[in-house]
Amino acid sequence: MRIDFHTHIIPPELPNFVDKYGQEKWPLLEQTCTCGANIMVAGKVFREVTDQVWCPHKRIQDMDREGVDIQVLSPIPVTFSYWAPIEQALEMAQIQNNFIAETVNEFPDRFVGLGTVPMQDSEVAIQEMDRCMHDLKLAGIEIGTNINGKNLDAPELTEFFRKAEEWQVPLFIHPWETLAKERTPRHNFMYTIGMPSETALAAASLVWSGVMEKFPNLKICFAHGGGSFPYILPRLDKGWEVWPHLRLTTEPPSFYAKKFYFDSLNYDPLNIKYLIDRFGEDKVLMGSDYPFLLREVPPGKVIDETIELSERQRKLLLGENALRFLNIQVQERRDEHGRTTHTARGEASKLGN
Ligand SMILES: [Zn+2]
Repeated sequence: MRIDFHTHIIPPELPNFVDKYGQEKWPLLEQTCTCGANIMVAGKVFREVTDQVWCPHKRIQDMDREGVDIQVLSPIPVTFSYWAPIEQALEMAQIQNNFIAETVNEFPDRFVGLGTVPMQDSEVAIQEMDRCMHDLKLAGIEIGTNINGKNLDAPELTEFFRKAEEWQVPLFIHPWETLAKERTPRHNFMYTIGMPSETALAAASLVWSGVMEKFPNLKICFAHGGGSFPYILPRLDKGWEVWPHLRLTTEPPSFYAKKFYFDSLNYDPLNIKYLIDRFGEDKVLMGSDYPFLLREVPPGKVIDETIELSERQRKLLLGENALRFLNIQVQERRDEHGRTTHTARGEASKLGN
């Protein structure tokens, strides 16, 4: 079974918050034709998208063609809106969470959903996480790598992580508002250098600060194979070793990093092998970044090309690790045409409030 853990979706009827709230920074979806649109931010084209990004039928066609059984749907990071007034950001989050839940409910065999929460206010973020997990029955939450320039070890996020651990909420951490933006406007370095570096800073913040020591059962998966984090981890350990006065944890960073999961979107079998050797065969989840330009086609290609993998490892990376990470059980059944279909059932909802 193939589960694409890293895909993005947006409601086609995204309301115009620029008009509604008079702030240019809100993302707008401006349809350019029946099968495409521009995501506009501050009057400029942020990204050109095709209808695959909102149409479940188109997605299912692609999944069938590319051999994907289940897609895990998550919002597009530009919609996180942590910068906005909290009521408005909550409204934007709820519109997306409701849409994702409706899409999952319409096609429970093919989609699993992750929600978004307004992280600029931990209390409201926890309330919306509660609604996502326990009312909408989403499988987890996607959050950004920083909250308005604050790293993920900011003390005001402690309660959010405490609740995420208590409720066993899988967290997908995705880069956005990348560091060194002023130095990466050219060559699209924001995507190729900014995002991996941003992800490394987020992961390092969680291990160095003691968040992972305090909440050892947090379930966290980083996008894009963890960016540059897996490769700079020995340097973090070296820093921990030579600067005892800066230590905030009992063990070195790599000890806590072993808890992390990483998607497989690093394009190179050597990198996949490295992730497995460093973090374990149970920590890598197939993810493609569908339907965007930098996506892997077909999803799981780099895993298929990693020839040293055993059949068991292949199964783990292509689907079973995602199921375990998302607390999901899948029922396999045959339809009237003899095809195998799967129904995903979340377990997190049983964990109570
Ligand atoms: Zn992505």
